[in-house]
Amino acid sequence: MPKKYVYSFKEGKKEMKELLGGKGANLAEMTSLGITVPPGFTVTTQVCDVYYKNNRKYPKEVINQIDKKLAELEKEIGKKFGDKKDPLLVSVRSGAAVSMPGMMDTILNLGLNDETVEGLAKKTGNERFALDSYRRFMQMFGDVVLKVEHDKFENILGKTKKAQGVKIDSELGINGLKEVVNKYKALIKEETGKDFPANPKIQLQMAIDAVFDSWNNERAISYRRINEIKGLIGTAVNVQAMVFGNMGNDCATGVAFTRNPSNGEKKFYGEFLINAQGEDVVAGIRTPNTIEELKKIMPGIYNELLEVQKKLETHYKDMQDIEFTIEKGKLYILQTRSGKRTAHAAVKIAVDMVNEGLIAKGDAILRIDPGQLDKLLHKSIDPNANVRIIAKGLPASPGAAVGEVYFTADKAKDMAEIGKKVILVRAETSPEDIEGMHAAQGILTSRGGVTSHAALVSRGMGKTCIVGAEKISVDEQGKKFSIGNRVIKEGDKITLNGTTGEVLLGEVSFVEPELKGEFKTIMEWADSIRKLKVRTNADTPHDSKVALDFGAQGIGLCRTEHMFFDEIRIKAVREMMLADTQEARKKAIDKIMPMQKKDFKEIFKIMDGLPVNIRLLDPPLHEFLPTEKEDIEMLARELNVSVKKINELILATKEFNPMLGFRGCRLGIVYPEISEMQTRAIMEAACECAKEGINTQPEIMIPLTGTMKEYEILHYDLKRISDEIIKKNKVKVDYSIGTMIEIPRACIIADKLAEKAKFFSFGTNDLTQMIFGYSRDDAGKFLPAYIKKGILEKDPFVSIDTEGVGYLMELGVKKARKVNPKIKIGICGEHGGDPSSIKFCHNLGLNYVSCSPFRVPIARLAAAQAALEEKR
Ligand code: ADP
Ligand code: MG
Ligand code: MG
Repeated sequence: MPKKYVYSFKEGKKEMKELLGGKGANLAEMTSLGITVPPGFTVTTQVCDVYYKNNRKYPKEVINQIDKKLAELEKEIGKKFGDKKDPLLVSVRSGAAVSMPGMMDTILNLGLNDETVEGLAKKTGNERFALDSYRRFMQMFGDVVLKVEHDKFENILGKTKKAQGVKIDSELGINGLKEVVNKYKALIKEETGKDFPANPKIQLQMAIDAVFDSWNNERAISYRRINEIKGLIGTAVNVQAMVFGNMGNDCATGVAFTRNPSNGEKKFYGEFLINAQGEDVVAGIRTPNTIEELKKIMPGIYNELLEVQKKLETHYKDMQDIEFTIEKGKLYILQTRSGKRTAHAAVKIAVDMVNEGLIAKGDAILRIDPGQLDKLLHKSIDPNANVRIIAKGLPASPGAAVGEVYFTADKAKDMAEIGKKVILVRAETSPEDIEGMHAAQGILTSRGGVTSHAALVSRGMGKTCIVGAEKISVDEQGKKFSIGNRVIKEGDKITLNGTTGEVLLGEVSFVEPELKGEFKTIMEWADSIRKLKVRTNADTPHDSKVALDFGAQGIGLCRTEHMFFDEIRIKAVREMMLADTQEARKKAIDKIMPMQKKDFKEIFKIMDGLPVNIRLLDPPLHEFLPTEKEDIEMLARELNVSVKKINELILATKEFNPMLGFRGCRLGIVYPEISEMQTRAIMEAACECAKEGINTQPEIMIPLTGTMKEYEILHYDLKRISDEIIKKNKVKVDYSIGTMIEIPRACIIADKLAEKAKFFSFGTNDLTQMIFGYSRDDAGKFLPAYIKKGILEKDPFVSIDTEGVGYLMELGVKKARKVNPKIKIGICGEHGGDPSSIKFCHNLGLNYVSCSPFRVPIARLAAAQAALEEKR
């Protein structure tokens, strides 16, 4: 038996998507459901594969099978392909397993030529219709198969309409259409050097080949890349008998959704056009009518359509996007597929369908794209607003922000204080800009990637942020930025769309986020399924509160350095660094202690009953020193030291590679008074809270551990201090000491570390940079090229590189659990909020993930999906 390459719609079913493509499989499914679908057949995706493997040719057997199915179609319809009196006409439609807008546009009315068009006119008694179909066919075929520019056809059509004094296509009469057809013929001859192919069999062959060719056109390839569509062997081709929505005023064509795709409302939703064909509705040639109007014009058909849509939705158990055509009072369905929807609609529809008994809770959870939930948690640009895009960068933190542009953190802060809405625009940001970022509505940088400082901090703050808008040149001195010739000055208004990365001119209106109703319901369902706990990365009481409201089960990372950046504390840190004796150093650092303690107490109170993981000071010390001449002079005056001394210190702390320099636990080893002070602040706060009846569970985390000795020195110190404080306070505090795992070496000695440490937290940002040897702040220069060239599949700072980073994580987990089965292991890098990384963490058997407050719901959902996927 030769292989089966061609399936009639009667032979397929919806499960055969891989072979028949989504469109073909669903046409077959509808046929078997008894829905009126024009008959046809599908040439399989395997033929596409063979076509490419054989230098764009396929075996004779394929052609034989197509001929056979065509003959069957002729018999079924009772018309012959190429018949001069009553020709069969077909459409040729592409369709891969996954919907891919990038491929070839559909060709309608194939089979027409100078002779068959006359037959069609006579047979239908409608010459205008026949000519209209002919000119549409020539235009589509000329454009997509013969590659004559689309605009050239439109030009001819437009000119003829003008000459005839008509506005819309359907008003063009017989003479006008004849003229268009003749001009199209001439155009094709001129452009291709050949006549328009008249033989229907040749037309069909060329159209099928063109569909296969379009599988690898640029549009399709980039669509697959952007949407991470992999592992498909090709597109199928559907050849289907034509039905006509353009035969007159008792005909129409339309598109409908079984529910509202924008807000999820359970209400039939759609549009149609009388006397039109194919894509006229979506192409915006005429303004379509709403589906309600069909009820008035053709009530019988409307009711039938209502039945069909109900049947399809119940059958597929999902919101469907349906195409239909009405030919002389008869309804045909031409396509059904799962409808695209907004995040808002996705959540509402999933919950509604569970309540309607259509799907199970697990299905509802699996159906929602966790990444999309972002859009429910932030303000967003009003989809109906008029916008002018002036630049595009990387969407680093979603949401929308509008404000006046300012170029320094100080200015941004000052303007925010007097009540202005501010957008902070900088080449890139640094820790000194934190307060300005805090004051701003949104942040725009011309440099940096999606894990740059600006991006990281904004996401943590839940602030809209666009980074790496490379076309922008920021002139801080001149208080302006420019994009080509356009100049935006200080105080001018712009709007950021953090979801798309678009920078918009002026002020654009917003819609507020919604965090209740179905969204809450789906989160509760997710919680009942997931095994991974979800914590948050939060440095302030405010962030802790936000995260708690989003369902965080504790803090996975509290970065103490951010607490040092306010004016008073940074002065104390600087004093400490400038101190000559250990005593002076201690005196300076002790000034900070009560302030840190106060912060911790507030956080413990918010997180009553939940663990709070606090990391000891991590960044290199030079980040705390001023850089501007005036600031240095001011500091000298304030601390009564010489400018020279400060400059010497700046020089002494300057590092060639701060990321690999004097930071993390290395600080605590060389300056034990820092980690000692921090431990005191944590434990005194905890004890005081305990006295007030608050259940605190502090976890003290040592950063950047690479050797056992480093860990031991700090561990014993911290433990001694903690136990002392507890003893003095005569309370019970359930505290623990553990380490961040972010240096490859720590993964390798995880078994040793696990003997002492009560917990591990994978710091996957640093772990990724160290394993790859990519500096996170500089990788923006080459990562895009690496991804484009396929050297890397994904940005490893966004999604865990499972092969390398993941391997070492797995090694670490295995070694640690072997000696200490109860060790608590989590992750606190940016990856903790990335759905695919969360699934990886679930599979590794981690105890929790920790992410920025606004990603907590995303993580809850992704963790539930991981648990469900593991079961299935
Ligand atoms: P897409 O994949 O872009 O949706 P389709 O193959 O669905 O493309 O076709 C484009 C348009 O042509 C749709 O409006 C569809 O309903 C219409 N169409 C396709 N085949 C036929 C047919 N056999 N008869 C009438 N209209 C058709
Ligand atoms: Mg379609
Ligand atoms: Mg780190």
